[in-house]
Amino acid sequence: MKINPNFASMERNYLFAEVAAKTAAYQAAHPDQRLLRMGIGDVAGPLPQAVVEAMAAASREMGRKEGFRGYGPYEGYGFLREAISAYYADLGAQVDPAEIYVNDGAKSDAGNLGDLFDRDNLCLIPDPVYPVYVDANRLAGRPVAFLDATPENGFLPLPGPETRADIVYLCSPNNPTGAAYDRQGLQAWVDFANRTGAVLLYDAAYEAFITDPGLPRSIYQVPGAKSCAIELCTLSKLASFTGVRCGYTVFPKGLRRGGQALGELWLRRQATKFNGVSYPVQRGAEAAFGKEGLAQARQAVKYYLENAAILAGAIGKFARYWGGKNSPYIWMECPKGMGSWEYFDFLLCEKQIVATPGAGFGRNGEGFLRLTAFGSREDVLEAAERLGRG
Ligand code: PLP
Repeated sequence: MKINPNFASMERNYLFAEVAAKTAAYQAAHPDQRLLRMGIGDVAGPLPQAVVEAMAAASREMGRKEGFRGYGPYEGYGFLREAISAYYADLGAQVDPAEIYVNDGAKSDAGNLGDLFDRDNLCLIPDPVYPVYVDANRLAGRPVAFLDATPENGFLPLPGPETRADIVYLCSPNNPTGAAYDRQGLQAWVDFANRTGAVLLYDAAYEAFITDPGLPRSIYQVPGAKSCAIELCTLSKLASFTGVRCGYTVFPKGLRRGGQALGELWLRRQATKFNGVSYPVQRGAEAAFGKEGLAQARQAVKYYLENAAILAGAIGKFARYWGGKNSPYIWMECPKGMGSWEYFDFLLCEKQIVATPGAGFGRNGEGFLRLTAFGSREDVLEAAERLGRG
């Protein structure tokens, strides 16, 4: 028996595990200090009330013989796929319910999508970015090349004449930089993919944070995307579903490679490895896309965006930053030429603020730090005050 040798090509620890370990050690040594946790990208909650009621009603329904449901469809219930399709229509994107595949969150599919592609395909992944794309492809033994995201290109790299890729991951608004592509930028990627036959894996996990009407919230708002792009999205950040678990992936019918519709292959894959999302959760997700649920969810998003603006205002007085609008993330340059982990340690030990070192998101993240706006207003104001003290 041999274990997967590709584990050797992955970082020893998942980034957030390392941050958590350092934070726990500090807190154990200083039990009286109040830490302000601006690190991990988890929402503060609570769930929208409309979601709670829908999940409770669905659970009661399952408790009656005539309302009981066992295994559901691999691709998700029709009622939820229709609600998601209507949400897309409101964004100005045409996505048919049959093109939507419900899942237990975007993280799973961000990794699982690799099952569709040959191991020799070259993956092009922005650096810095959400670490799951790199780790999942390394685990599968797939070659990975990086797209440099830097202050010079506003952390929004574009394809150039030399760009080569079979699979391109894009994340907009980006985790960790908060940078979001405009239509022109996304069009450049769509044109690249349609010209070369590459497939774009577009992660729209933070689309709900876009308030600027000039920025697309779905890649399907860009002409040509339906023949080259798979879109991943989630209710985690829109409706505080991080602990409930529900997301969706879109495979347009026109997306074909090697003579096959990728959506059909995906359904085959799901039927083998996935048994669906629970009925109460899908009813809760449907409610999140309803009028009342969406209004409640948007209140929370607005609150986080206000938090981001407060943090950005404090940071802007002493450092360069990106994000802070259209995103829950603030990506700041570490002051005085400090390294990412050095500044992380400084904030933890001197200001009792837990952030995320940019270096954990890729080589280009060195010298940067990510703060998240998901905390309580009280914590955010306190963090802004502590940061402002210099
Ligand atoms: N995609 C990005 C870019 C994320 O930052 C995250 C979580 O932080 C996810 C996906 C995971 O979302 P989910 O909770 O749906 O698995």
